[in-house]
Amino acid sequence: MNIQTSQMLRQERQNKRFTDKQTQTAAKYLRRLIELPGEPEGIEPFYYALGRIYVKMQGLDLPQGTKTVGTYCVMAPQELIYAAGAVPVKLCSGNYTAFSIGEDIAPRDACPLVKAVAGFKQTGLMPVYEDCSLMVVPVTCDCKKKVAGMLGEMCDVMTMHVPATRGDDEIDEFVSQLYTFAERLEQATGNRITYKTLADGFAKVGYAQRELSEFIRLKKQNPYLIRGSHTMAIMNAAAYMPADRWAAALNRVNVSLRRRAAAGQTVTTKKLPRILLTGSPIVFPNLKIPLLIEEMGGIVAADETCMGERGMYDPPVITDDSFDGMIRALANRSLRPCPCPTFADNSQRLYRLKQLIADNHIQGVIYHVLRGCLVYDFEYKRIEEELGKLGIPVIRLESDYNEEDVEQLRIRIEAFIELIKLRQAPEKRTEVRTAF
Ligand code: SF4
Ligand code: SF4
Repeated sequence: MNIQTSQMLRQERQNKRFTDKQTQTAAKYLRRLIELPGEPEGIEPFYYALGRIYVKMQGLDLPQGTKTVGTYCVMAPQELIYAAGAVPVKLCSGNYTAFSIGEDIAPRDACPLVKAVAGFKQTGLMPVYEDCSLMVVPVTCDCKKKVAGMLGEMCDVMTMHVPATRGDDEIDEFVSQLYTFAERLEQATGNRITYKTLADGFAKVGYAQRELSEFIRLKKQNPYLIRGSHTMAIMNAAAYMPADRWAAALNRVNVSLRRRAAAGQTVTTKKLPRILLTGSPIVFPNLKIPLLIEEMGGIVAADETCMGERGMYDPPVITDDSFDGMIRALANRSLRPCPCPTFADNSQRLYRLKQLIADNHIQGVIYHVLRGCLVYDFEYKRIEEELGKLGIPVIRLESDYNEEDVEQLRIRIEAFIELIKLRQAPEKRTEVRTAF
């Protein structure tokens, strides 16, 4: 056997090991979601989307010839991508196997999300990455900046500058970046972005936002109609489904939740400690934290993470219905209300967290920090102080993309949930039971 053949065989073996390990992890987390009691009717399309990408390792389920554009942050407006006749796919990754490959590429202190992205791109084995006609990377932290450079050596990448502040000048600058993004999309897809196609893009995403707002209304009901882990699966699947298909599937879930509400069928009693989960992104299959919270007897009553509601929560507000007015509405929506800690002034983030705490009667906050994610870690102290003033307990959970920390996380989450139970009024502290 010559050297070239033996190298090829070694590569094949490595690829097979990668594929087996990564599909096993994804299948395991999908199974845990399915086995968690109380899943709503209509959740299957979301499981299908996650399973298709990570277990079957196929590309998006789209008509042949449809182009996809990879995004690495919710600040890249999906509406523009639809306007160019393409479908956006969020490529931030939660994959443990890709992370372990990325560990050899990225520096030790880089965050696991970025290592996983680097690992996937390096293997060249994930169609969802390989199929992209263009990738757009809003540069929100140093890790994103470096990953953009790394990806740029392998595919067509556009970086977007995200300002530290959000005054009128910064919005103007972001508007001009969106015009550049529109040009790059036209080049990548061969389609023109017109007033009509942009309006259609708004309509598509608007449909998803309307269904999401009904879903938020329903999932807030206490006793709960749906568990937070199932909600996170639905929200994560939005990354891999066209917005109108995701919205139609969510509509079916909403119908089933309304039916549950009418029948008085709930997934929990009122006594489960209600947790708000916030911090660094929680991306499938890395759902260990929400699953642990719910397996330990709490409920993720709300989340403020960018694979959760953040991506679609705020609709763009059009005050001028010209083409430029629509682009400006996208720039405003991307920056002004965004609670991402990448901005210097984070009063917006605190406001949003307090709003979620009040709306969902939250009893405790779990603040997730991916190892190496400085922007989120930096914010923790201030948030702990502010929530302390409201009497809301907070814990910081640092985690990585592997299962070595699961036992430690389990112990801390269990202790936190016990603490919340102790703080509940004694008459309310009765045995927790589930309705399913
Ligand atoms: S955490 Fe912030 S920077 Fe990262 S993807 Fe979400 S919104 Fe973008
Ligand atoms: S915001 Fe945090 S998790 Fe996201 S890429 Fe930057 S360091 Fe990683």
